[in-house]
Amino acid sequence: METANIAVIGAGVVGLAVAAKLSETNEAVFIFEKNPKFGQETSSHNSGVIHSGIHYPKDSLKAKLCVKGNTMLYELCEKHRIPYKKLGKLTVAITEEETDELEKLMQQGQDNGVEGLKFLEREEVKKLEPNVDVEKALLSPSTGIVEPDELMNYFYAQARKNNAVLATETEVTGLKKTDGGYEVSGISVGEKFTVTAKTVVNCAGLYSDRIAAIVGLDIDKLGYRLHPCKGDYFRLTGKPPVKMLVYPIPKGAGLGIHLTPDLGESIRLGPNSYYVDKIDYEVESSEKEFREDVQTFLPLIRERQIQVDSAGIRPKLQGPKDPFRDFVVRHEADKGLFGFINLIGIESPGLTAAPAISEFVSEIYENEINR
Ligand SMILES: Cc1cc2nc3c(=O)[nH]c(=O)nc-3n(C[C@H](O)[C@H](O)[C@H](O)COP(=O)(O)OP(=O)(O)OC[C@H]3O[C@@H](n4cnc5c(N)ncnc54)[C@H](O)[C@@H]3O)c2cc1C
Repeated sequence: METANIAVIGAGVVGLAVAAKLSETNEAVFIFEKNPKFGQETSSHNSGVIHSGIHYPKDSLKAKLCVKGNTMLYELCEKHRIPYKKLGKLTVAITEEETDELEKLMQQGQDNGVEGLKFLEREEVKKLEPNVDVEKALLSPSTGIVEPDELMNYFYAQARKNNAVLATETEVTGLKKTDGGYEVSGISVGEKFTVTAKTVVNCAGLYSDRIAAIVGLDIDKLGYRLHPCKGDYFRLTGKPPVKMLVYPIPKGAGLGIHLTPDLGESIRLGPNSYYVDKIDYEVESSEKEFREDVQTFLPLIRERQIQVDSAGIRPKLQGPKDPFRDFVVRHEADKGLFGFINLIGIESPGLTAAPAISEFVSEIYENEINR
């Protein structure tokens, strides 16, 4: 039986970042990924936005890890030539009433340590984005975009350089606590496998609640059950009508249908949000819904062509009627699982936060496990 020091389950952006970080100072880090390649799930089905941190309650992990991740990500991108653009973002109030919401966002952002936030009046918005017609906007200059695949390539290269091993087509289906750690078992390229590991880090994204259940945790009692929540995207054809990211005031489970330029300089609309029972990436929404939403702040969209683009699925802890839920990043020693670190509910801003999450996990590992 092979022996790992640390087994990371899942090779999305978070699992790769965690493996890259832990393998800097630890031997025998294994990453198990059920798909043929890393990053084929949520990490490659998202908006690629480097969030500033205005959307999350003060002191939440989402707020802290987003703000820290934002700074870390720009440094990483600059240093390692990962494609990115710091475009800035406008969150727009369409009506006078919505300006109250903008004020709350401004306050929350400032509480979270987001720098450079500024209110803009209608005419100031027009100067920046002539096609956007709104009452008022909140400018967050530290919002940007990154190429998620390139970011993952970077984390994977770092992990490999540090001798971490990625096993693809390797699905973990069993986890048993033993005296010295865990027996990790499953199917690898059609064959059964078993590996022992002193530490296990659950980075299984949409399946992280299942992994928690497999190791014996009562996911309903603990509030770890995920509620997959889909978001569809459409794409605008023709000349881009905006240069910056433009978001409405958030409503429901997502951030509202927004405009995101990508690095190829075409504009994506979305994602919207609706809860689903199954994981598939078919776009189910209508073009009409997107057009009507966006035309409230970008009137010229009426004349533009919109094409179906793609979809992503959020691994949400927050069910349809629930209040805000934070990321779970937790060493489960108090539940009899010394050496088992759970990462559950890593929805947005998980891409932005990935480098900060990896440092947080590394601190937990060094302070609580590898003493
Ligand atoms: C529509 C949408 C838009 C988003 N936009 C943004 C954004 O603009 N900015 C931002 O910061 N964040 C955004 N996010 C959030 C971000 O994409 C996620 O937080 C991040 O990608 C999560 O990465 P992950 O590694 O945890 O999960 P994943 O990428 O899902 O990786 C988990 C991996 O675990 C593997 N796995 C699962 N079970 C097993 C098993 N049993 N054995 C082996 N492998 C297993 C899976 O195959 C998968 O590869 C968005 C998310 C969505 C859905």
